[in-house]
Amino acid sequence: MNKIALSAENLTKIYKNNNNVDKSTLALNKLNLKVECGEIFGLLGPNGAGKSTFINILAGTVIKTSGKAEVWGIDLDVNPRQVRASIGVVPQEINFDPFFSPKKMLDLHAGFYGVKKNDRITELILKMVSLEEQANSYTRSLSGGMKRRLLIAKAMVHQPPILILDEPTAGVDVELRKNLWSNVKQLNKLGVTIILTTHQLYEAQEMCNRIAIINKGNLVALDTTKKLLEQIETKKIKFKVKNLNNFDKIILNNVKFTKSDDEIIATYDKNKSGFEKIIAIVKENAEIMDISTDDGDLEDIFLKLTNG
Ligand code: ADP
Ligand code: MG
Repeated sequence: MNKIALSAENLTKIYKNNNNVDKSTLALNKLNLKVECGEIFGLLGPNGAGKSTFINILAGTVIKTSGKAEVWGIDLDVNPRQVRASIGVVPQEINFDPFFSPKKMLDLHAGFYGVKKNDRITELILKMVSLEEQANSYTRSLSGGMKRRLLIAKAMVHQPPILILDEPTAGVDVELRKNLWSNVKQLNKLGVTIILTTHQLYEAQEMCNRIAIINKGNLVALDTTKKLLEQIETKKIKFKVKNLNNFDKIILNNVKFTKSDDEIIATYDKNKSGFEKIIAIVKENAEIMDISTDDGDLEDIFLKLTNG
């Protein structure tokens, strides 16, 4: 096993409501997980699952109720400052002074972390997030995606080995998201361990080598993205067809066939049916123009796990 970047042991958070005990919220329920150095790790869950609570505990803005957290080998209870120094947190909301330039802002922030002038890598960081050309513009003139990237830059000024992004693409359009992801992957290649939270499964699927799924504070899955995807039992085959003679003749046990215009879709459990039979029966009854398959995605697992 690789070196552990971050671990949570029975990490629990109850938000107390002093006026009404019944209204206390169990936001994290004995969470256990480990993130290895060098990973891009996804913390996945619907709204209210406890993702931000987890991150805010590490960042020191939320006090845990019980359990243990270790970051870069340091116990949060023993040295919270050192824990904070080991992580860069990219928050959900954009929060900076619109009148500073990116360069000025990063310099100020580095100062805030006690990084000496000579040790600052402001220019390099700006380059890493592709903002070197905007170094001296007003941040208010930056596009939404650039602002997000500037948030990442801000989280990196003290060169933490772990970068945590909380729902980094909320409100970011497709083009900018791609750009953001390539920047994050770049940082990971340089050795930074990445943890990102999202409620969007395709995002985790695309980015992360391992994924934890939490729901209502409970860990419901923790595995490699590949293994989680293998758990998906439902597969789909789409046929574009011509000269369909009789759709009603296309019947197979354990396979559901649906038709729309010139398309026939077979939905089946990959453990129960093979695709050869499916293709054969369609071919018997129509001319197949095109075939595509759909492996389903984490959404299937997610629904199964979070409803159950
Ligand atoms: P996520 O980031 O996954 O959407 P959060 O960690 O923000 O989830 O919230 C987890 C649960 O804790 C939710 O039920 C939320 O309402 C509750 N919660 C979050 N912050 C507070 C707070 N400061 N006071 C009380 N309850 C909170
Ligand atoms: Mg959140």
